[in-house]
Amino acid sequence: MFDLYQSCTLCPRECNADRRKSVGYCGEGAALNVTRAALHMWEEPCISGVNGSGTVFFRGCNLKCIYCQNYAIAHNEGGKDISIDKFAAACLNLQHQGAHNINLVTPTHYIPHIIEGVKKARSKGLTIPVVYNTSGYEKAEAVALLKDTVDIFLTDFKYIKAETALKYSNAENYVEFAKDALREMVRIAPSPVFEDALMKKGVIVRVLLLPNHLIETKMIVKYLYETYKDNIYISLMNQYTPIKKHKAENLNRTVTDYEYKSLIDYAAHLGIKNAFIQEGETAKESFIPPFDLTGI
Ligand code: SF4
Repeated sequence: MFDLYQSCTLCPRECNADRRKSVGYCGEGAALNVTRAALHMWEEPCISGVNGSGTVFFRGCNLKCIYCQNYAIAHNEGGKDISIDKFAAACLNLQHQGAHNINLVTPTHYIPHIIEGVKKARSKGLTIPVVYNTSGYEKAEAVALLKDTVDIFLTDFKYIKAETALKYSNAENYVEFAKDALREMVRIAPSPVFEDALMKKGVIVRVLLLPNHLIETKMIVKYLYETYKDNIYISLMNQYTPIKKHKAENLNRTVTDYEYKSLIDYAAHLGIKNAFIQEGETAKESFIPPFDLTGI
């Protein structure tokens, strides 16, 4: 499986980089680099529960959106190279702390490590579900590799127009890949399973409302619901925070109450039952954890 790093085509960038010697667009080589492994309370309620989700943040990203909320790690700052054994131990430690699941954040470029690491952790007693927390910029065949590893797919669906995907994420083909990848995720986890209000298996699709992009966001929600009805959960997010001053000036503010309410009303009008909405002040940088090697 680690042969995949020799001429890497794991994700839609298809760099063909030999990651043993250099890096591709994601900025990462063949060593597993992690920036934090800790309990996190700010996911959807069925993921965070009362104890928290056991988040493992990987360094690097294959998408690198200009408005990225985890800018430092997406741009390959900090982090520590760790072994598969250390990764498995970090997962077990999170379970020991009471985590309801292991939540792998920005995992795409480390799929071979993740498959081996989760297998090792399970052989040593890991029983909680594994969550694959992705930007959605995935190849369906890479997602298929995860069928025995991942229980819950927690995926973004960021764009429905190629021009927006190009402008903000330099990924003109995002939409076609995200659609195919989501289809594969739903094939692996076709309907949601809950126990005591915690998700054990299923697909949650996150739709982050960007300022000044209400119409495109409604188009995304319509596509998701018409395609998957209530076999998936849709998480409507208003937490967008302008981390730095953008050249794209229409991203330099949080979303308004009007924009978010309009999105929620639209989802209700479509008849969506399985949705999460955010309440209160969610657009704060304080929701972004410090990437300080905690738990590594
Ligand atoms: S995972 Fe990284 S190296 Fe591999 S194709 Fe994607 S961006 Fe390129």
